[in-house]
Amino acid sequence: MRGWPLTHGQGLPSLVSDNKTADGPLVRRGRDAMSTEVSEMPGLDGQTGRGGLLAPDSTEGAGAAAELNWAGNYRYTAPVIHRPRTLAEVQEVVAAAPKIRALGSRHSFNSIADSPGALISLESLDPAIRIDAAARTVTVSGGTRYGTLAEKLQANGYALPNLASLPHISVAGAIATATHGSGDANGNLATSVAALQIVAADGTIHHLSRGNSPDFDGAVVGLGALGVVTKVTLDIEPTFAVRQDVFEGLPWQTVLESFDAATSSAYSVSLFTDWSGDAVAQSWLKSRLPLAGTAAPEAAFDVDTFFGGTRATAARHPLPGVSAENCTEQLGVPGPWSERLAHFRMAFTPSSGDELQSEFFVRREHAVAAIAELRALSHRITPLLHISEIRTVAADQLWLSTAYGQDSVGFHFTWKQLQDEVEELLPVIEEALAPLDARPHWGKLFHADARSVAGLYPRFDDFKDLAERMDPEHKFRNEFLARKVFGE
Ligand SMILES: Cc1cc2nc3c(=O)[nH]c(=O)nc-3n(C[C@H](O)[C@H](O)[C@H](O)COP(=O)(O)OP(=O)(O)OC[C@H]3O[C@@H](n4cnc5c(N)ncnc54)[C@H](O)[C@@H]3O)c2cc1C
Repeated sequence: MRGWPLTHGQGLPSLVSDNKTADGPLVRRGRDAMSTEVSEMPGLDGQTGRGGLLAPDSTEGAGAAAELNWAGNYRYTAPVIHRPRTLAEVQEVVAAAPKIRALGSRHSFNSIADSPGALISLESLDPAIRIDAAARTVTVSGGTRYGTLAEKLQANGYALPNLASLPHISVAGAIATATHGSGDANGNLATSVAALQIVAADGTIHHLSRGNSPDFDGAVVGLGALGVVTKVTLDIEPTFAVRQDVFEGLPWQTVLESFDAATSSAYSVSLFTDWSGDAVAQSWLKSRLPLAGTAAPEAAFDVDTFFGGTRATAARHPLPGVSAENCTEQLGVPGPWSERLAHFRMAFTPSSGDELQSEFFVRREHAVAAIAELRALSHRITPLLHISEIRTVAADQLWLSTAYGQDSVGFHFTWKQLQDEVEELLPVIEEALAPLDARPHWGKLFHADARSVAGLYPRFDDFKDLAERMDPEHKFRNEFLARKVFGE
């Protein structure tokens, strides 16, 4: 049967702004199961199951060295962490610190967020979610989590175009690393940014906006190197409904013969594989549904079979054998975008929890070649892997975006927590994908250094110049940036 029954579930002077005025010390640890109590107050988030070491109202700072990232594979070395409650306090803390970097929700897997001096977390600032209906934008504090924002937007009849696999991450932290979801026509989350408010190294506030600031395209995916992003303005659209369908056992041959047709079959398509065998384990299709009263769309895929796969008859988790309780609703049940576009639900642990991650992006034309390279390495990859996910991302103009200038396909790896073995394998994978100019995800584990990364981004030197102008004393630099970006 083709189609589905339609059910409506429903300032630095040199900064040009439009402001008119698998790295470092690693620790091994197990992973607690973590249930979340969702709250509008970012400081009350229970997602990590590990509160900060400071009273949430402190701006005095305290040891951050005992703080782990979400995966527990990186222990921040910064001796001080600040949690200001107001913008003025952010400015004061940044201006006074010789070295400082912003910390988001700690979901990166490498040392990108660490600082040799202080860390500053915005989780104690009011999310301050402001919808501008006329401009079709929403402005939020940078530390706000996507889950909190999505709930508020949906309640007011609005939507973001896309989400990552999890809603737990902070807006400023996600855009800083070009975090993405899937969809041939969907840019990564940073492409929704219309404007930024940044506290620069001297504590002054700068506003950069799309189309008005020459540095805007360089500043959005900023890797935390330009300043502390205190507010982000994002494009929004009227709310929409989504249905999610999962298919299993798609023969590789069929997928490879029609890769473009497969990824364009729904608004967002993910292919999950462990690279072994002849079939893709699962395909997750997120399809946009029209609002009640509008015309039904042409069904883009067969509801019983999808590229030789069979329709899952029960909800699935991407990881084999893991309960689907943590996942957003499937089985074609329509629901709001805010409860379907991420794979994982805000109130539950995303993914496995006991994991590491890496991801590499190639231009779309190279997708089939990249799959061939990775399948040829399956004897090395599969034993270390929970699961891989293949997603598509539309091209953009953000200088350090992994989709800069090219429609892209992302090859994601959810590794078992075997840091040494994964770090040993990463150079092998990167070498195999090097002829395809694969760009590594900034927030996940990768081996490449600044020398090889630089050649992948046409505006790389422009970004370095921008960072030099915004942060001439290198207040926001850390060891990760020195090695992977600035080549120091
Ligand atoms: C379970 C899991 C699933 C994931 N799924 C996806 C996915 O689907 N797609 C994807 O692309 N990635 C995914 N990631 C990776 C994740 O989205 C990125 O690592 C993202 O950067 C994490 O955001 P964060 O708020 O935790 O930032 P952090 O890890 O805390 O920081 C990341 C960077 O952002 C900077 N930063 C944070 N806040 C600010 C600020 N206010 N101002 C300036 N800079 C700031 C930091 O300095 C640092 O450089 C996943 C990670 C996990 C753990």
